[in-house]
Amino acid sequence: MRTTQPQVAVIGAGIAGLTAAGVLRRQGIAVTVYEAGKQIAGLASSFHDTDGFTYDFGAHFLTNRLAAAAGIGAYCRTVKHYGEAVYLGGKTYGYPFGLLQNPRYLVSGLASRLSSRDRTRRYSSAAEWFRASYGRTLANEVALPLLEAWSGAAASDLAASVGEKMHSSVFQTLSLKLASQVSGRAVGSGYSHEVPEHPSVWHVYPKGGLSRLCEALASEVKDAIQLESPVEAILVDNHRVAGIRVRGKEQPASAVISTAPCHILSRLVQGTERLAPLAQLRYRPMTFVNLRLEGRGLLKDTVVWLPEKQFPFFRLTETPLSMPWLAPAGKTLITVDFGCQVGDQIWTMPDEALGELCIEHLQPLIPDGRRRYLGCRVLRTPIAYPVFLNQYEETRRQLEQSTGVEGLYSIGRNGEFSHSLMEDVYWRTRQRAHQILSELPILSSPALVH
Ligand SMILES: Cc1cc2nc3c(=O)[nH]c(=O)nc-3n(C[C@H](O)[C@H](O)[C@H](O)COP(=O)(O)OP(=O)(O)OC[C@H]3O[C@@H](n4cnc5c(N)ncnc54)[C@H](O)[C@@H]3O)c2cc1C
Repeated sequence: MRTTQPQVAVIGAGIAGLTAAGVLRRQGIAVTVYEAGKQIAGLASSFHDTDGFTYDFGAHFLTNRLAAAAGIGAYCRTVKHYGEAVYLGGKTYGYPFGLLQNPRYLVSGLASRLSSRDRTRRYSSAAEWFRASYGRTLANEVALPLLEAWSGAAASDLAASVGEKMHSSVFQTLSLKLASQVSGRAVGSGYSHEVPEHPSVWHVYPKGGLSRLCEALASEVKDAIQLESPVEAILVDNHRVAGIRVRGKEQPASAVISTAPCHILSRLVQGTERLAPLAQLRYRPMTFVNLRLEGRGLLKDTVVWLPEKQFPFFRLTETPLSMPWLAPAGKTLITVDFGCQVGDQIWTMPDEALGELCIEHLQPLIPDGRRRYLGCRVLRTPIAYPVFLNQYEETRRQLEQSTGVEGLYSIGRNGEFSHSLMEDVYWRTRQRAHQILSELPILSSPALVH
């Protein structure tokens, strides 16, 4: 170990914090991981009930490539099928190609392809970007209502970058879908951006639940993890990180790597106003109602999107269609995603009332749903998706460069205010951790701020 410098403090024991800590530890850097919660894994946690059902925060898949990198490839099951559909006007269309069998969407999509040849054009909002990329009809009737339900903001107030970041070419999507059908494995498509998608990269799920991934990442730094230890303050002196405060005690730190959401990071920092703009960044809370039902194959495909306003939720996922082991034989689980605000009617509704609300609205899709219904389990998270409001764009782009404080790094999905899935979080964090290593002071850090 390099003993001439104080430890590096990592805030958060999710995938990002554990990955960063592992990279630093391997290079002989003293590191401590502070986790506010009672356990590791953050958003990548699984919950099991005594009846044999497993729930994640929404549906979670990882890839065989990430599983291999984390050393848990042998403990993962292959996901053989994954598909998405859209429910519109009483019919379910496969996504994306089934939708294009509707001549209105096809014509509008083709027209937009022919007219939007200028790839360098900058769009002033997500609404503009989606209309130019998908055609007006498909954007107005499908993509934009979903975007608004998901983000809780008007598409005209959202930045074009929200679309650009999720976009894959039609050719790429088609070739990966074909690879899936030929190989009988759910080849990842639109899933990773840091490393290329490929027919040899497919979805898997760890036996025992998602947390296995984080347990493997944690095994290298187990002795350095402190649970139930929320970092209360990050102390900055002369625009350089000096230390942290945990449980009322100040400790020096040669660097601080935070995976906390940006607005929380902004509140933690003391001794500079440089992170003040991050305080405005907002995340969309979600309520996930996991309906337990008799039978299986109640939806047309694993994920069904619901753009029509008659539904108070926007997405359904029958996870056992892709991962049969998440529910006991002869039973199934449908996760219903509600976008909400902390404290609103959905957030505060009792679990059983939420279950009833779902069953009632699902009647057109599952007419005998009430007879099949076995109760529900509800998960709520105040921080699920970064909301890419146009007004945040400058702050978001600046954050991509740096926090503005020497020795303070903001990484991971919420720390970077990005929609990254686990594989991107993993590879990106490794890259950033190597960059941080090259910037670490070799000699002792400045004195603590008091
Ligand atoms: C609904 C949904 C579905 C998803 N589906 C998929 C999927 O299918 N596949 C996929 O690959 N990815 C999926 N993701 C994304 C994936 O969950 C995340 O990318 C990943 O888990 C983020 O890891 P992280 O370490 O960046 O952040 P987190 O997991 O959020 O970890 C941050 C940790 O920091 C801790 N913390 C915060 N503040 C403090 C503090 N002050 N002091 C100490 N600790 C603190 C938190 O308690 C938390 O444990 C999904 C995400 C959502 C929301």
